[in-house]
This record gives sequence, C-alpha cells and structure tokens, in this order.
Amino acid sequence: MTSTRWLAEYAWLAGDDEPTPDVLIETVRDRITGVTPLAPDGGPDAGVDVLADAVRLPGVTLPGLANAHSHAFHRALRGRTHVGRGDFWSWRDQMYAVAARLDPDSYLALARAVYAEMTLAGITCVGEFHYLHHGPGGRPYADPNAMGAALVEAAAQAGIRLTLLDACYLTASVDGQPLAGPQQRFGDGDALRWAQRLDAFNPDGGHARVGAAIHSVRAVPAGQLATVAEWARNRAAPLHVHLSEQPAENDACRAVHGRTPTRLLADHGVLGRATTAVHATHPTSGDLGLLGGSRTGVCLCPTTERDLADGIGPARRLADAGIPLSLGSDSHAVIDLFEEARAVELDERLRTRRRGHFTPVELLTAASSAGHTALGWTDAGRIAVGDRADLVTVRLDSVRTAGVAPAGVWFAAGTVDVTQVVVDGQVLVRDGRHARVDVSQELATAVAEVTTR
Ligand SMILES: [Zn+2]
Repeated sequence: MTSTRWLAEYAWLAGDDEPTPDVLIETVRDRITGVTPLAPDGGPDAGVDVLADAVRLPGVTLPGLANAHSHAFHRALRGRTHVGRGDFWSWRDQMYAVAARLDPDSYLALARAVYAEMTLAGITCVGEFHYLHHGPGGRPYADPNAMGAALVEAAAQAGIRLTLLDACYLTASVDGQPLAGPQQRFGDGDALRWAQRLDAFNPDGGHARVGAAIHSVRAVPAGQLATVAEWARNRAAPLHVHLSEQPAENDACRAVHGRTPTRLLADHGVLGRATTAVHATHPTSGDLGLLGGSRTGVCLCPTTERDLADGIGPARRLADAGIPLSLGSDSHAVIDLFEEARAVELDERLRTRRRGHFTPVELLTAASSAGHTALGWTDAGRIAVGDRADLVTVRLDSVRTAGVAPAGVWFAAGTVDVTQVVVDGQVLVRDGRHARVDVSQELATAVAEVTTR
C-alpha cells in the first residue's frame, strides 16, 4: 500500500500565513499528490464514505522540519559542561575530549541515537557539519571516509534524510598555526587532498547527499578557500561555513588579512546562493551587504549561541538584507526547532525591548523550507503537490498547547507535542515513539561509551 489519504485537523500549507482547518492530503510513495482543503460543511467530496479510509491527524500538521546545522557528537556534552565559568573556548576543550574517543563504530551508535532524537522532534532532514575525519594522530582509516560513512548509515537507520557537509579543516588559527592534539583528526593536509578524499565518497541510498564545508576562516588558509568553493560549485552541492560566531575570529582575521571574515570569503568566491554561513552573530554592516547581495543564507543556532555565550545574532537585520534564514541545533544543548524558532523572535525582543519582529510563517519557513533548501533538498519542507511526503503533526491538546491558536505552536509547543512524523511517505514516529529506535536507552549507552563519568 503506497497510497495514503491523511485528514489533517489543521495543516500549514505552502504559501499560507496560518494553518488551514480540515485538509485532505494525499500521498503516493514518497510524494504529496493532493492537497484539498475541505469546505466548512464537509465539501462536496467530504462525505463519510469518501473519508472513511483517511488517516486522522488531530492537531496541526506542519511540513518536515530541517535541522541545517548539526555536529552529532556534541550531543554527548549535553548537561555536562554547564557548571562553572568559561566561554566558547573552554567548552571547545571539553568537546575535543569527546572527539578524541570516537571511532566509526561508536560514532555510528551515537549518531543513530541523536538522529532518532531529531526525528522525534519533527526533523526530517539534517545537515551534518562533519570534520572528525581521521583516526588518532590524524592517521586515515582504511576507508578514509569511514567516519562519514558511519554518519550516512546512522541517518539511514534513524530514518532521517542527511546532507553530509564534509568540512575542510587544515589549520588551528587564522595565522596558519598547524593542527595539534585532537585537531589532527580533522585535517587532510591541504584542500586538494580534502577534495580527492571527498571525490571517492559516494554514499548509497536516496536518503543522503554530500555537500562541502569550510570549517571557518580559522581552519582554511585564504589561498585554499577557492578550491573548496570550486569543488562545491562543480557539483552543484551546498557549501556551509562557520562565520563570525566569536568576536575573536573577526579580530584575528582583520589582523592577518586586513578584512572581515565575510569579506575574505567574498574575495575568494565562497559566497552565493548555494552557500550558508552558520551563526553570523557578529557581522558588520558591510558584511550584511555582502551576504545579502550574494543571496548567501545564514543558519542561526540560537540555543547553542546562548549556551556558549556567543551573543545575539542580528536576525532581523539579516532578513532585511535579503538573507534567507535557516535554523540549526548545532551543539545539541537542546534539539527542538520550536525553541530555536521562537528564540529568533524572543532574542530580538530582549535586544530591542519591542515585540513583533518575525511573523509565525517566517519562523515556519526558517524551520522547514529554507533549511531544506540550504541543504540542497529543494523539493521538501512544504505541504504542496509534488513535494516530498513529510508530515509533522503537533498535538493541540497537551498541557502546553491546549487552547493555543494553531499558528501559535511556535510559541507554545515543544518536541514532546510532536505525535506523528512521516518521512518520505513512511510513518517513522507514531504516538511520540520512534518506530525502530529506543531513543533514550540508546542515547544513554552511546554517551556513556564516549564520556568519562
Ligand atoms: Zn557548528
């Protein structure tokens, strides 16, 4: 049975400002083939007989959500780095300690559990910003893409689509200090060897695709930025890059190159419609013009940016500059795109002491279609005929959501209110439970494996 009729109490259809009541959604295999809002009286085709076989979706049904920025192994740090003083850089030392303990088998187990956690949150596609490539000391595994292959397999087992954003990571600082300690596992030597390794990686399965990443201007020398950008351009692949998460990165880039990180990327052909800058927390006005003028996207990660004391990204100014916004849970301090989305609005309120910066549909777009587009899946993230059959149903009868207007789920719901998730036409989450993975049990086991108690 590959054809299904779903009857949504409310569905947020592509192009609409708010959810529509009583929508019949038809899917065949992995595609949406029909979207029919029923008339208030049930409509001419809404007789009991016609709808008898439809699967009822109580609550509000959203398109599939996209988590555009993930480092799966950072999930092992949740709740373990939150005591005591410090900043991004001290947190990074703790993150490196986990990285040092991972191998392809333990990474598969951890990522499978983390990706399954994402599906419980309504996430149907993830962008994995992947830089832990090699074995201890930087020695390649027998298959130099073994770690990437583990992530692709983890996504298949968890039932989520994946864009593996394979990161070029060559130096430890903007002035070219060599990789040392745990960072040696990230490096390929130079950008050409990074490209050669990636050329040999062709993962199986329609659920995964490969994209490129420049870790940051700290990690790729200016003279090698164009090599990575060209690799992505030649393959029409998405290109992601961490950008101006920390003022220290801006200061170092100005000192070494006499320009901001954004300007440096622009000067080496990195910006463009297929490029997504991650964070962009501390851009200059000139940077906003460069990003917007090139239609480069920005992936905001508000829960990580608050957790790491990065600062508040200028979300409204970015959007006003013409920059498409997407969302990521990044370090996975939490995995909840409802929380990421409302933080975009609420953080602006804290900064400006005014309300009403983003409409609910802008938040929906960032969490769904814009994220999918940033990851190269342009046929997903909308409830529309021809798009992928991803349907995320959020209950409106929980203690959090009872009495909430359907469009208000962005300010009221949490991941525990996601009752059902359909990915590419398959029911992956039913009654809030994953079809194949005991998520909490597998997370506990996988995290214990890579952390010191
Ligand atoms: Zn990141």
